[in-house]
Amino acid sequence: LEAKEEFSHKTLAMDVMRPRRNDPTLTVITQDTMTVADIEAAITETTYSGFPVVVSRESQRLVGFVLRRDLIISIESARKKQDGIVSSSRISFTEHTPPQPPTAAPSLKLRSIMDLSPFTITDQTPMEIVVDIFRKLGLRQCLVTHNGRLLGIITKKDVLKHIAQMANQDPDSILFN
Ligand code: ADP
Repeated sequence: LEAKEEFSHKTLAMDVMRPRRNDPTLTVITQDTMTVADIEAAITETTYSGFPVVVSRESQRLVGFVLRRDLIISIESARKKQDGIVSSSRISFTEHTPPQPPTAAPSLKLRSIMDLSPFTITDQTPMEIVVDIFRKLGLRQCLVTHNGRLLGIITKKDVLKHIAQMANQDPDSILFN
């Protein structure tokens, strides 16, 4: 029993993160290619509390994290108060907005509502350490990457479920006591 560590399967961040292997992909927002309508669709089609912002779908390089409620408030307010903000307006999270054809609707700049340094771990991080980080830093969510590409997300609730599962499987485990 002393060698328990050797036998026990170590759960890694990749085993707990969403999406799971056969789930639909992570719902992300691209930093400067989506329109107001695209982002409103992401908001109505999902219930997630937040969305990672990436450079592009191809690169999956993480730029930041934006909360659902901040998106809703900002878009609603811009549609009411900001001239020219319509469904086809681009939303940009970059520092400089890319040039647009003069006929295009003005873009909506939302960099100010984005968390520019969301907490990130790699997919190989042991859950033991992830739990510790969540506790010590009081995280609500944490993003998971592999070789610099965004792979998934772990929320506080995901961590709590994982802890409950571990306690069920192994009531003697002192790891989480
Ligand atoms: P909670 O975990 O508190 O319910 P959410 O509603 O944000 O918080 O997330 C619900 C589930 O969906 C969680 O398991 C989480 O890992 C996952 N999730 C959160 N955000 C996203 C996203 N943008 N794309 C895909 N899955 C997500």
